[in-house]
Amino acid sequence: MLVNMRTMLVDAKQKKYGVPAANVWNEDSIQTAISTAEKYQSPLILAFYPAMVDILAVGKLAVERAGRAAVPVAVHLDHGQEFADAVKAVRAGFTSIMVDRSTCPFAQNVAEVKEIVSFAHAIDITVEAELGHVGKGAEYEQTKHEGLTDPREALRFVQETKVDCLAVAVGTSHGLYAGKPELQFERLRAIEQAVPVPLVLHGCSGTGDDNLKQAIGLGITKLNLYTDLDQAGYAALTQFLVPGKSSNMMEIESVMLSGYGEKLGHYMQLFGSVKRA
Ligand SMILES: [Zn+2]
Repeated sequence: MLVNMRTMLVDAKQKKYGVPAANVWNEDSIQTAISTAEKYQSPLILAFYPAMVDILAVGKLAVERAGRAAVPVAVHLDHGQEFADAVKAVRAGFTSIMVDRSTCPFAQNVAEVKEIVSFAHAIDITVEAELGHVGKGAEYEQTKHEGLTDPREALRFVQETKVDCLAVAVGTSHGLYAGKPELQFERLRAIEQAVPVPLVLHGCSGTGDDNLKQAIGLGITKLNLYTDLDQAGYAALTQFLVPGKSSNMMEIESVMLSGYGEKLGHYMQLFGSVKRA
């Protein structure tokens, strides 16, 4: 069933488990993610990155498919950086929007998030925003101590914007890490104690199972995943391809998506979202 992400994350916060937010891009990836969630009876967040996917066309498919799912599924706009992205997501029937103004100064971030919260809440859509900035893995060694979330600022941000959940910068990074991920658990603990809403972790791929589990114990409820799922798909393909043996595109695509689904299932078990549907 299609659900509001807020309800899903409040339950996760109370019971201390995490919900995977898996990036999808077409009908087959949507189908794979939902079947995996049904197999493990796990709630699921389908995340759409607007720079890579036509959120109106493919997003509508996801909303329709989520409505027929046997488990709770939220359809979410990932890193909506333009006002127009939020409008498109609403039009497609998404139940959640991320308003990413994390590179803006504090006051501008607050003002622009507030503007979207005011219309999203009127139509029961969840809003996620980011305070601090989760950067790129390729620049990790240079930037890992920059843009980290300040707990007191985080409280002010949540109070002023009325945002439903908050993405925090505590040492993770998007894409592949150049270097070893170093999570700032004390900072996360302080944010969790200060902020009443569920917390979100971006850049979970490559962060390591132990780190992610510990982050969930300290209040992370939504964990964003793409690179690891993508790499698992690619690994499944390289195992499948044998020199001299022919294949076809349909078979190749299903092999890659089986790798994606298996990795997503691994994370559902790790995050404790199994049988929470
Ligand atoms: Zn992200």
